[in-house]
Amino acid sequence: MTQSTLSTAPATASAIELEDRWGAHNYHPLPVVLTRGEGVYLWDEQGRRYLDMMSAYSAVSFGHSRPELVEALTQQAQRLAITSRAYHTDRLGPFLEKLCRLTGLARALPMNTGAEAVETAIKAARKWGYRVKGVPQGQAQIIVAAGNFAGRTTTIVGFSSEAQYRDGFGPFAPGFVEVPYGDVAALERAITPHTAAFLVEPIQGEAGIVVPPAGYLRAVRELCTRHRVLLICDEVQTGLGRTGRVLACEHEGVLPDAVTLGKALGGGLLPVSAFVAREDVMSVFGPGDHGSTFGGNPLAAAVGLAALELLEREGLSEQAERQGRYLRERLLALQHPAVREVRGKGLLVGVEIDPRFASARAVCEALMAEGVLSKDTHHTVVRLAPPLVITGAQIDSAVAALGRALRSVEPDSRLAA
Ligand SMILES: *Cc1c(COP(=O)(O)O)cnc(C)c1O
Repeated sequence: MTQSTLSTAPATASAIELEDRWGAHNYHPLPVVLTRGEGVYLWDEQGRRYLDMMSAYSAVSFGHSRPELVEALTQQAQRLAITSRAYHTDRLGPFLEKLCRLTGLARALPMNTGAEAVETAIKAARKWGYRVKGVPQGQAQIIVAAGNFAGRTTTIVGFSSEAQYRDGFGPFAPGFVEVPYGDVAALERAITPHTAAFLVEPIQGEAGIVVPPAGYLRAVRELCTRHRVLLICDEVQTGLGRTGRVLACEHEGVLPDAVTLGKALGGGLLPVSAFVAREDVMSVFGPGDHGSTFGGNPLAAAVGLAALELLEREGLSEQAERQGRYLRERLLALQHPAVREVRGKGLLVGVEIDPRFASARAVCEALMAEGVLSKDTHHTVVRLAPPLVITGAQIDSAVAALGRALRSVEPDSRLAA
């Protein structure tokens, strides 16, 4: 046994054992203990390097420990980090202005996590329904799409179509109506005079990188405008360059009435989220109506602004578009019989694995052994969503690793039959 095995292998076991012993078992992580990250790479306790094809569900779109963002963070942390919104700061205004200019919307309300941004959207939509649209008090309805994922609060899981996310957590808040995703006619049938908003992801991330039919969002926009229903796009995962546009709804030339942003907005360093909306939507909030102790703090604002500037300066949306096309091309070129479908936009890519061949989890474990980190979603989908700064050569090595991983999990004989 070598010196390094002696000194490091037990540490991994104990790190996992500690989590297992003292933590809630609400996750099922891959058996790797990460200690360091830089760019598209992560390192474990043994110093083994992995290519990160997950980027923390888009939170690390700019890469790990991006120097400009770490610089913004440390400079601001040494100057002023947290004040609460009881006071103004010199950092918040520039961040909000940038958010509005980048999205084409009028005002922004900063929060911390994606779920909080969605909760903010729900509150805004309801109040807009009563104040502006004239929905009778207590009757406002929000339409959501089947397969949605918008976070884990009790209200949000209440409108999830995922049985496990709801199981045991009721009673749930009323006021939500579900329609099939990608179905414009179903949406039209569900709209009533009490409908305040339609809350929808331009591409469903957690559902397995589900891309709606072309023209869906444009038709939804037209429908919402006609019926005076707010179109709120949940871009917590798809936003900020991920799909090849700043907002994924730009693929169809759609400007929503409001968007929720999160994940990448924190530059891979902090939880930063925002609800950004049209003037008449945001103006329903007055002092005291809504808030968050940490939302919009100077540290978050400084990092968020630096992240948005980086997105623009480096043309990361264009890069995601280009590299995403290359990634999908290379994946299809594998021509592996277990790969049923490769879908997505930009660098948000799902690889559908034939379950007769292997589970997506087994493929992710084999990928890990090949030095690539990914995560299965919905048992059959391997998610490939690397930092937007990934190079072509790194994509080549990720795809080659996937080829080897697929070969290692199951002999091809099963499918040949
Ligand atoms: C991740 C996600 C959220 C929730 O974000 P959290 O930061 O985990 O609360 C909301 N909407 C979408 C589309 C997401 O992907």
